[in-house]
Amino acid sequence: MQRALHILKSTFGYDSFRHHQAEIIEALINGQDVLTLMPTGGGKSICFQIPALIRHGAAIVISPLIALMQDQVDALNQLGIRAAFLNSTLHPEEQQLVEQELLAGAIDLLYMAPERLLTESMLRLLEQADIALFAIDEAHCVSQWGHDFRKEYQQLSMLHTRFPNVPRIALTATADARTRDEIIEQLSLQQARVFINSFDRPNIHYAIAESGNSREALWRFLTENHPDDAGIVYCLSRKSVEATAAWLQKKGRTALPYHAGLDQHLRARNQQRFLREEGVIIVATIAFGMGIDKPDVRFVAHMNLPKNIESYYQETGRAGRDGLPSNAWMSYGLKDVINLRLFTENSDASDEFKRAMLQKTDAMLGLCELTSCRRQALLAYFGEVMEQPCGNCDNCLNPPETWDATIAAQKALSCIYRTRERFGAQYIIAILTGKDDERIRRNHHDQLSTFNIGGEHSSAEWRGIFRQLIAHGYLATDTEGYGVLKLTQKAWPLLKRSETPQTVMLRKLRRPAKAQKKRSAAASSALPEALSPADQALFETLRALRSKLAKAQNVPPYVIFPDKTLTEMAMLKPTSNSQMLDISGVGETKLSRYGDAFLEAVGAAADKNH
Ligand code: ADP
Ligand code: ZN
Repeated sequence: MQRALHILKSTFGYDSFRHHQAEIIEALINGQDVLTLMPTGGGKSICFQIPALIRHGAAIVISPLIALMQDQVDALNQLGIRAAFLNSTLHPEEQQLVEQELLAGAIDLLYMAPERLLTESMLRLLEQADIALFAIDEAHCVSQWGHDFRKEYQQLSMLHTRFPNVPRIALTATADARTRDEIIEQLSLQQARVFINSFDRPNIHYAIAESGNSREALWRFLTENHPDDAGIVYCLSRKSVEATAAWLQKKGRTALPYHAGLDQHLRARNQQRFLREEGVIIVATIAFGMGIDKPDVRFVAHMNLPKNIESYYQETGRAGRDGLPSNAWMSYGLKDVINLRLFTENSDASDEFKRAMLQKTDAMLGLCELTSCRRQALLAYFGEVMEQPCGNCDNCLNPPETWDATIAAQKALSCIYRTRERFGAQYIIAILTGKDDERIRRNHHDQLSTFNIGGEHSSAEWRGIFRQLIAHGYLATDTEGYGVLKLTQKAWPLLKRSETPQTVMLRKLRRPAKAQKKRSAAASSALPEALSPADQALFETLRALRSKLAKAQNVPPYVIFPDKTLTEMAMLKPTSNSQMLDISGVGETKLSRYGDAFLEAVGAAADKNH
């Protein structure tokens, strides 16, 4: 372990292990199998990278994400580690070269996809080579029930029989108890040591707000919190992806669309620009994201409700892998709530499946309408108990006010009843607010006792009330797809006032701008401690230098140095190699490659300030 700690410092530039890294590394070095669940950004890679350097032979890293292998290998090469990959993007001669290097013991880490590993020729090659360990990344891909199922993953259990003396580590960031058991079963990891970390992502600030105009709300959120940061904006449809990207472009941001309908080359190029350039916003459908390894995604914005909490957590989890403060922001409206339920109800799935889906939909809505800590609720959903409210979500920082909406709810429900449960929210609201409307007159609904009894609330407020009544289960939408509102069992006691008195507490409508904190607040700035203006300027200079160096080598900027390292440099202003080595993320290889350039930039800025 002495050696492991030394490598952590000299190669990676970090002072101490975090989570269970030390125990995992020790187990692997000792030849034990390991299963580890760590949240995104928790530092999974080091768990097998350091044993790969300590154990004899090459570590074989199995990953389904061919597109990422180049970047992963680039990042390791930057650290001075001998890493390579084998996949179909290589020419046959290049592949041969890698295979020779493997046999010659000149590679410490070799990445490949499971389908390649499972070929007989590859297995034979590996039997001739020295293998330090097998790392099975994204291990939840063995699960038939998950989104990312890969059937090749299930065949990986043969590693156990064919290489009984080589330790294996399975890693994942997304696994509930059932998936965990499946991984153990499918990969024959019954003997493995299991390390499970909290799924909490403390650096992510969660905010969810209702809005009549998501786009304007998004723009406010971006200008206040992320004027030049990289981030992801998720939209529901391809059309809205295109429109939102164009709109952000017009506003002066570099915003690129990404969805399954785009030309494959354009899609690849947009993804590449997101990874390689600074401050790019990718506007995407959920098709974007699996395996996006970019550590400095500062925000994930949802323009609609995700379909369930699992998706929400996975998508927001793409923010802040580097551990720096990041925002998960969502804006949604009444339409979303109705659409989401319709989508589920109208799907072709079996009734049992639909029921399960609807439960998930309800849990998602519940999270949105929650008035207590969002993180506590999120973690509870995944079976984790968090004792105290987190202090880093919108509800903790700015507790929502609630109001007694019993009367409003009664008016709404009664209006639906009197119009025989045949209309959608917009029409009902028009009646409640006494709108002069041709259709209402034609239906004689201006004669109803509920006509114009809701003037104390604006239409926008009524939409909020209806949305919450649906979320709280007083109202359901029809199954025909028109958004017609129906009363539920839960609605009746409220309508018949004679029964035990009921109260309905709803949250007050709040403008999204208020839900967000000012830029100086911890979560909204990309920097751990607010930099002084002079340090901020130096940070920008260092960032520009990093960009230039990255471009010259055609690698993503963060493989040169992560933001955290640049922030420390801007604050500590090192003047010597040894001071440089004290900075987190600066190891010996990077010092020899980039130390001079960054020392010079820091020095030049100091001269200018004197
Ligand atoms: P994961 O694969 O779990 O999402 P990574 O392995 O990419 O996470 O690590 C996330 C970031 O944290 C990387 O920038 C990595 O270098 C950094 N990191 C990992 N371990 C440590 C540590 N012990 N101290 C400081 N930074 C670390
Ligand atoms: Zn909270």
